[in-house]
Order: sequence, then C-alpha cells, then structure tokens
Amino acid sequence: MNSFISYTCKGVPGTGVISGGKTYALPYKDMRECIASGFDTTRKKDINTGGIKLLSPILPSKIVCLGWNYAKHVKELKPAGGGPIIFLKPSTSVIGPDDSIILPKISKQVEHEIELGIVVGKKGKDISLDKADEYIAGYTIILDMTARDLQAEARKKGDPWDVCKGFDTFAPIGPGIVPKKYVPDAGRLALELKVNGKPRQKSNTSEMLMKPPEIVSYVSEYMTLEAGDVIASGTPEGVGLVKDGDVIESTIEKIGYMRNYAINE
Ligand code: MG
Repeated sequence: MNSFISYTCKGVPGTGVISGGKTYALPYKDMRECIASGFDTTRKKDINTGGIKLLSPILPSKIVCLGWNYAKHVKELKPAGGGPIIFLKPSTSVIGPDDSIILPKISKQVEHEIELGIVVGKKGKDISLDKADEYIAGYTIILDMTARDLQAEARKKGDPWDVCKGFDTFAPIGPGIVPKKYVPDAGRLALELKVNGKPRQKSNTSEMLMKPPEIVSYVSEYMTLEAGDVIASGTPEGVGLVKDGDVIESTIEKIGYMRNYAINE
C-alpha cells in the first residue's frame, strides 16, 4: 500500500510517498502534479524523516460535503427528512493530520464527524455513474468538524450551514492519499474515531446510503469537480463533543490513521 503525502522538511515543502513503512521524497511541485502523474513513484528518493512535518496531503480548491449519508446518523440527529444533501467547506478550514483544531469562542458545542474523503482525479461535470470511478484519484480521511449549537440554530431558521462547518481548522485531512487501486472496495471500510482513547464513532462505509461513485456522479450534477477537490462522504452515528485538551484519533481501514488535538481559541 502506498500513501501519498505533503510535508515540510526543515521548512521546505515537498511531496512524498510512504511505502512499506518507509518515507520517500517525490519530485512533484505539489499533490496535483503527483495525481496527474498517476501517482508515479519511479523517481522516488530516500529522505531523512527527522525534520518532516506532515501537512494536509492536498489543499483542495473546494471541499464538497455530503450530509445525511448514513441512516443511523440521520436517526440520531432527526432531520426533517429527505436524502443526502450537499454543502461546502472553505479551503481555509483545512489543517494537517497532526494539527490542532481550534474551538471558536462563539460556539459551546463543537463536535467531531469522521468521514471518508474522496479525492477527485480529474475535471468533470455531469459525470455518469458508470464513468464516475475514473474521476476518483484515491481516498483520505477528513473530519467534518461542526459547531453543533450554531448548526441547530441554522436548522431552526432554515439558514445554510456554511458558518457552523466552515471555521478555520474545521477540516483536518490526512494522513495521506491512498490511490484507489489499493482500495478495491471503498464501500466496505471500517472507520473509527476515538476521543482520549475512548471509541465514539465506529462504523463501516458499507452503511453509506450513497457510495463513492454515486456521490461523484451526484455532486457533478450540480458543480464541476476539479482535480484535487475533496468530497467528504458523510459521517456515521456517534458524533459528539470535543473539549479543550482532547486528543482525537481517526482511523479508516486501508487509508490510515491521524491524530488531532482540540484547543480553545
Ligand atoms: Mg459531516
């Protein structure tokens, strides 16, 4: 399994690959170029991992999120009804796999949502379901952090969710991008999120109402998808509060593990 990463090494940005437990540097200027190469690793070079800090593997031009894509999560938050919905998170909400989530003063209830992130491989609009897989480069982990109290107010008033979902640091992404060839069935992956070592969310992508190819096709009915965009595919049940000092550990089978920290603004 290869996981493609973005990092800084002694302050210098780079792309690389973790393969067989070893980290290598790749000669790409950024992850978009790496995706365009088809994740070619022939020019990889050994690297001293001592000074490496992992960044979000990609800085998406947009993050498209699906809401209400797991039946048991729909049940726990009781929406008015209907199927999955689409909303966006700004690129300024992105942080890396070791970074801290800042809990904004304006909210008393920030909650975690672990989600499988679909990384778009090439530009497309109105993508048919049978072609949708061609537009997927790979997968990553994304947390759709949510100010639940602000969301509850918005839902009451029929307002959009941009503000409650879009704070700076509310989209940790990582640890890398795993190309789809290593993930033959993205619709059957165990996911788990722990807070301070205690399991909170534990499910499987088999519980998704809409699977990755359907999601890509559905979203592309409304907007053009571009290489490097990330689609957050919805969260399973078990969402809950994070507090100052909490350690949030996210794992998705075949994709990886990341650890973020929550701190007060
Ligand atoms: Mg979500």
